[in-house]
Amino acid sequence: MARRIRLGIVGAGIAGLTLARAMADCADVRIFEKSRGVGGRMATRRTDAVTFDHGAQYFTIRDGRFRAALETAQADRVIEPWTGALATLPDGNLAALSGGDTTRYVGSPSMNALAKAMAAGLDIQTDAPVEAISGTAGKWFLKIGDRREGPFDWLVLAAPAPQSALLLPDEFTHHGALAKTRMNACFTLMIRQTEDAKLPFAAARVDDPVIGWISRNNSKPERPDDPCLVVNATAKWSDDHLEEPLEDVRRTMLEALQRYIPISPSEAEAANIHRWRYANVDQPAGQAFLLDDVSQLAACGDWCIAGRVEAAFLSAAALGGALKQIVKVAP
Ligand SMILES: Cc1cc2nc3c(=O)[nH]c(=O)nc-3n(C[C@H](O)[C@H](O)[C@H](O)COP(=O)(O)OP(=O)(O)OC[C@H]3O[C@@H](n4cnc5c(N)ncnc54)[C@H](O)[C@@H]3O)c2cc1C
Repeated sequence: MARRIRLGIVGAGIAGLTLARAMADCADVRIFEKSRGVGGRMATRRTDAVTFDHGAQYFTIRDGRFRAALETAQADRVIEPWTGALATLPDGNLAALSGGDTTRYVGSPSMNALAKAMAAGLDIQTDAPVEAISGTAGKWFLKIGDRREGPFDWLVLAAPAPQSALLLPDEFTHHGALAKTRMNACFTLMIRQTEDAKLPFAAARVDDPVIGWISRNNSKPERPDDPCLVVNATAKWSDDHLEEPLEDVRRTMLEALQRYIPISPSEAEAANIHRWRYANVDQPAGQAFLLDDVSQLAACGDWCIAGRVEAAFLSAAALGGALKQIVKVAP
């Protein structure tokens, strides 16, 4: 019988968690995550009374494998459909947000709830930013602050492509594919409204040069009732203004938002901004995952396929399948 391999995973987003769960029966898996919590871009920001899903807004389930993997989460209401109206602005047309093939799901009571449920029972170190990788096939080490973790037989990078590319040693044979991948930035504005503006939609796509999306976070299931908005800048505008001071970005996005929704001076004053350097996928790797069985290094994530939660799951699930085949025949 093959011995259990020691597998290190960098990143506890949906991809890293999916892979860890897939490998748990044949590997000793440890995950290292730089943030305080799990979920990556399936993120939730908490303030005193409200929460904001400031990363992924929702996700769809189109593939049977994703659907099957989410059965328990759905039964436990860790994920729920997000209903209401989807507007297009400025013309104001309304359509159903969810329905048929395009049911839009969210974590419940917050977007990171699914990741939290998936993380149960896994060996995860948070607040653990991996700064460097050293070693050789079968004996990889991670540098995290002044400590060294390892050895690992296999290492998998489940971080956004540019961050994975920086960490992966030269021996990794797929640096070319990583370099071709392009990701977009996104600025996200979070506004707690002091009065309910009685907006006729749960979310809106906006045809504007600065902002592209508005959602009423409190329209999602199990969120606090207090009205609050999440506003995303367009990918192009975000890329073009990536290095601008956050205060300037915040001001420009607020000005743009006020073309569609009245925002009071006190609401504007308290609005928060978040910069996602790597938010969505402009040019995917075009392969479900990148695996090098000589160096025993691999990478997965949404950027392999498309900038969607489901794609991150499918990439990691496919890598898990391939890795298991290799591990099964290893001495
Ligand atoms: C603003 C925004 C809106 C979006 N809207 C949608 C949407 O509506 N629908 C949809 O399907 N998708 C949406 N997405 C995309 C979706 O969030 C992603 O496709 C998905 O969450 C990616 O999962 P992942 O596991 O591949 O990567 P991530 O979630 O990015 O996880 C990678 C993890 O690696 C960690 N990490 C990185 N570097 C290191 C390091 N050196 N050491 C340790 N840990 C590290 C990160 O902290 C992160 O937790 C959106 C994303 C953003 C940002």
